[in-house]
This record gives sequence, structure tokens and C-alpha cells, in this order.
Amino acid sequence: MSHEAAIENLSREERTFPPTEAFAAQANLSDPAVYEEADADFEGWWAGHAEKLRWMKPWDTVLEWEAPHAKWFVGGTLNISDNCLDRHIESGAGDKVAYHWEGEPVGETRTITYSQLKDEVCQFANALKAHGVGKGDRVAIYLPMIPELPVAMLACARIGAIHSVVFAGFSSQSLADRIDDADAKMVITSDGANRRGKQIPLKSAVDEAIEKASGDSVETVVVVDRTGLAISMQDGRDVWYHEAIAGQSTECAAEEMDAEDVLYILYTSGTTGKPKGIVHTTGGYLTQTTATQRLTFDLKPDTDVYWCAADIGWVTGHSYIVYAPLANQTTSVMYEGTPDFPDKDRFWDIVERYGVTILYTAPTAIRAFMKWGAEYPESKDLSSLRVLGTVGEPINPEAWMWYREHIGPEDAPIVDTWWQTETGGHMITPLPGITASKPGSAMRAFPGIKAVVVDDLGDPVEPGQGGYLTIQRPWPSMLRTIWGDDQRFKDTYWARFGGDTYFAGDGAKLDEDGAIWVLGRVDDVMNVSGHRMSTTEIESALVDHESVAESAVVGRADDLTGQAISAFVTLVGGYEASDELEAELKVHVGEQIGKIARPAEVYFTPDLPKTRSGKIMRRLLKQIAEGTELGDATTLANPDIVTALQEAAAKRS
Ligand code: ATP
Ligand code: MG
Repeated sequence: MSHEAAIENLSREERTFPPTEAFAAQANLSDPAVYEEADADFEGWWAGHAEKLRWMKPWDTVLEWEAPHAKWFVGGTLNISDNCLDRHIESGAGDKVAYHWEGEPVGETRTITYSQLKDEVCQFANALKAHGVGKGDRVAIYLPMIPELPVAMLACARIGAIHSVVFAGFSSQSLADRIDDADAKMVITSDGANRRGKQIPLKSAVDEAIEKASGDSVETVVVVDRTGLAISMQDGRDVWYHEAIAGQSTECAAEEMDAEDVLYILYTSGTTGKPKGIVHTTGGYLTQTTATQRLTFDLKPDTDVYWCAADIGWVTGHSYIVYAPLANQTTSVMYEGTPDFPDKDRFWDIVERYGVTILYTAPTAIRAFMKWGAEYPESKDLSSLRVLGTVGEPINPEAWMWYREHIGPEDAPIVDTWWQTETGGHMITPLPGITASKPGSAMRAFPGIKAVVVDDLGDPVEPGQGGYLTIQRPWPSMLRTIWGDDQRFKDTYWARFGGDTYFAGDGAKLDEDGAIWVLGRVDDVMNVSGHRMSTTEIESALVDHESVAESAVVGRADDLTGQAISAFVTLVGGYEASDELEAELKVHVGEQIGKIARPAEVYFTPDLPKTRSGKIMRRLLKQIAEGTELGDATTLANPDIVTALQEAAAKRS
């Protein structure tokens, strides 16, 4: 029997995994009263977490809220790099390891202490100033997962410059768009990046991007020597990183920043349309990211070895590889490369060697591990792991159970964290010492967060029903606006339900216990002959079939039924695409969910179109299935797949 069928056969109680007594006994939080307390005084709850930071000047007012604009910790001043570095060194933790950095080439590692990190951050901060970068200036960062990336971010934060990190897998055009949008004065990059044993050029992409950019904002390009790839340096504009920091002092006073000064701009991953430049500020952002890292993962900074296996180019990396872990004095693992280089056991080798205790990754990675087989994790000692996290997409119960059975020790809690670039930090997640978890559910709002699932009219739905996910109270790490486009900010998030209600763009349902199941984008809810069905549900049914590794489902326009279901699947090694298998999969979905859920067609593809952050781009699949023109595809990682699918779809129609 498959895992999912096994779960379905369990009773409601058996399908729920409460914290073990042993875990709860040692947890940072184990009293459920925290939820009510935080609810009764959410400003006081967040202020309590803000007090754990080092402020230069205390705030006067916790929250000023003129919907949709929030100001948190008004009047307070602080510096984030001071909180991430100096504060720990002054308390005697300078020799503590901040990062165990692991390069992709086997055997290449660096151990970086808090003192070493501070010295290099100060040197680079001084170099930034020497190149004319000051408070409020924008700096684009286009770097692979090397130590210079957090150094560059912290150096910007130290002097009050605003960074805009652009994932190093993006094309020169995407980089050009982001440089233009933010009017970046400087670009920080490297000669190249290591990827699956190959060297990918980055500096030449920066040269092209500056060429393509319509503005001429860029004055300086700083280049880290990472791969030794041949590059050209432009006189008067380009400077090597090691030369820029040579001779710079390891002291640099941290700029006093207002709690509401902008820390960074980060563009969303673009699954629903043109990427938006999300603006995050200082005090509230650090308050919520640190509080959530401590409580969601039950972080024990003295003993944990924490690994968030995302890329810093995404918000997950900003919040949970750089800012929260450093401010919480965490020892983290940071890995440069891919999980399958040189072999498919690389992650498990890293977990074993560093004794990782907390692992945070994404459903797309877990599904890849499933596809590769349990022999890889089984070949390593993973017994150090004690908390597992997931983020990025709804996780299908099959993958959740596999994560539990093959990665964590059987009773390690799994925290399914729902949040967005816009929210800055975790919003919906179990607390591992308190909240029971269920495979596929993010469970309940973090204390102090008011998440409400509403119907079309904005009224809360009853348990057992589905609707739109909204947040009905400001939170400290919320986006403040969209860079340069406050109207788009209002229209995108606040217009749908009006007033104080933030519309996340996701659909969700409440189960009979009131637990929240995030179903993905609202656009991903289909209406077939009047029946509302979520794409996630049908995808989970497909993945439940032994031949299917990954699936994506979209509703395409259909004259007869309103919408018809198009399914796209990748197969497990050893299975071949055929008309018989297509028929079998349709029957399988029918048996799992009901005849109405049967896909009208199943496309077999070697891979699904994904953003460079690994998320399935369903909107492109919908356009493919409907044969209409494709929208913005600049963040797509694998364009060839799309072309092949368009041809396959054209043949069918
Ligand atoms: P864009 O907004 O440009 O379309 P995006 O929404 O993919 O891109 P992100 O901010 O990186 O960009 O992703 C946030 C989204 O990811 C959420 O709105 C949700 O759809 C999905 N998501 C994240 N975590 C979870 C989770 N634990 N469960 C379900 N969905 C999740
Ligand atoms: Mg989004």
C-alpha cells in the first residue's frame, strides 16, 4: 500500500502526530497558552521578542497602523549587522562558528567564526564607502552560495545601503530588469559559479546586464575570484573583491538605522506574473525572523547545528540562512552546490559530517530525493537530526511521510511552514513542542498572527470548508510596499477584501479540527462542471501512483465543463510514457478522488517547467494546455521543456 493510501486508511487521531513527551519536555515552548496570550496582546508579544535584540535607541510606539501601511517599533533605532555580529563578540562568543561553509568541489570547506565574519564585513563595508556607496543607495548582489554573499549583505546593512540580491541562476535580462527597477549603483558578483562540477560564468552575465539595462545607474562592479574563469575587467568600473578589501580596516562603525529604514528589496519568484520588488525594513523584520527561527525550529543556539538548504537568492535564504540565524547566534551549515554532486547522497553526507540537527528544505527537493531512492539517505548516519522543516509549496502527504520515514528519526517533528517573500518570516506553522502535525497541513498561525480563511465575501469559513487565505492583523516582518509602485502594493494585496485584510493570493481549507491546509495559488483552484477542486489534491493522487515522480495539474478552459483538467507528469525511472499508462492514471485519479477529478489529458514530460527556485509554474502550463501565448517567463529555469510541451499540446488540439 502506498503511504498516502496508508494515511487515508488511518483514523483522524492516527493521522495526527502530536509532539512526543520527550520532545515537549525539552522544547523552547510547550505550553499551548502562548497562543491565547499572544492573541490577547499581539503588540506586547512582538515587543517581547524585539526586546531580545540590541537597540541603539528604544522605540516609542510598538505599532502605527494605517492600513495598508504599518510602522513597527516607531522611533527605535538599531543596526542589523551589529545585532548579527558585534553583540555576540562582545558577549564572548567571537570564536563560535557562524558558518560551516562547504564548497561544491568535494573537500573544500571553510569554518567562519563570528569574529572572522565581523572583520570581513567591516573591511567590505569600508570598501563600499570607498567606492561611494552610502546610506539608502541600492546595491545589486549576484553571487553564488559563497561566504562573500552574506558578507556583502551584512556590509550593506552595516552602512545602511539597501541590497537587492538576484539569484545567480537568473539570466542577464532578469538581472538587467532588477538593476533598472532598483537603480542599483553597484553590482557585486563573481567570475563564475560552480554547478554540478561545471563552471557557470557570472561576470559576463553582469556585463551583458549592464549593457541591456535601460538606465546607467551602475558605477562599480565588484568581482569575487571564485572559479578562475577568464573574464574581462572594465577599467574604472570593475574591481576585484580581494583588492577592494585589501588594507581596509576591520573596524567600521555600524550606522544607526531607524526601525523603518529599508533593509532590502527582493523580487518574488514570478509564479503568478511579473516579479514584484518586495520591500523589507529593519526592526520588525529582525524581530519576527529571529522569533520564528527560535520557536518554529525549537532552536538551541548552544547545541544545534542548523542547515537551511535554500539559496540565499530567495527570501528563505535571506531570513533563515543570513539574518535570523546570525542574530540568534546560530551555527549554520552553508552549502554551495547541488544535492546530486558528485553523487545523490551529498546532502546526507553533509548532515553526517557536521552532525546537522535541524534541516530546512523544500518539497521539490524532497520529491527529488524520493525519486532517487531511499538507499542514499540510508547509507549515512542521520541520527543527529531532531527537527525537519519544509517550505515553498504545498507538500503532498506522500512526500511528508517519506521525509519522516527516511530522513528524520521516526518521531522528529516536521514543521510545514507557510509564508511568502511578502511576509518576511513564518506565518503558519506548527510549533514542534506544542502543535500536532498532519502530513500536508501547515496547521495553525504562529502566535500573534491572525490567519483567516474566508469565502468570496470575506466572511470566515467553517471548519471543513475552503476559501481564500488572508491575514487580518499587521505583523512585524510584513512587506512595507512594492519598490517604486505603492499602487501595485495596494491593488495586489489589499484591494480584494479591503480594509485591514491582507490577501495572500493562496487558497486554503480548514479541516474538521480547524487546521489550515494551504492549497496553492487561488488561480490553481479549478471549477469542473461546477465542482471546485484543488490542483494539489489531484497532483497528490497522481504522485500516489507508482509510476509518477512528480505532477502538475491545471484547469484549462473547456466549452462543455467550464474547465477541464490537464495533467503533466514526470515518470519514475524505468517507466515509459504510453497511451495505456495515460488511461491507467486517469482511472487511478478517478478511484482516489472521484470520476469528476479524472484528467482530460495526461502529458508525459521529462521535467516540469519550474522557476529557478524550483516551483512549478502552473500558469505557463495552463497557457500551454489552452494553446495561448505565454506570459512573463523570465524566471523559468528550463525553457526547452516548455517548447516541447507546446508542440505536444498543439498535436492534441
Ligand atoms: P510570485 O508571487 O511572484 O508569483 P511566489 O509566490 O512563488 O512568486 P514566493 O514568495 O517565493 O514567490 O512564494 C510564496 C508562495 O509559496 C506562497 O504564496 C505559497 O503559494 C507557496 N508556499 C510557501 N510555503 C508553503 C507551504 N508551506 N505550503 C503551501 N504553500 C507554500
Ligand atoms: Mg507570491
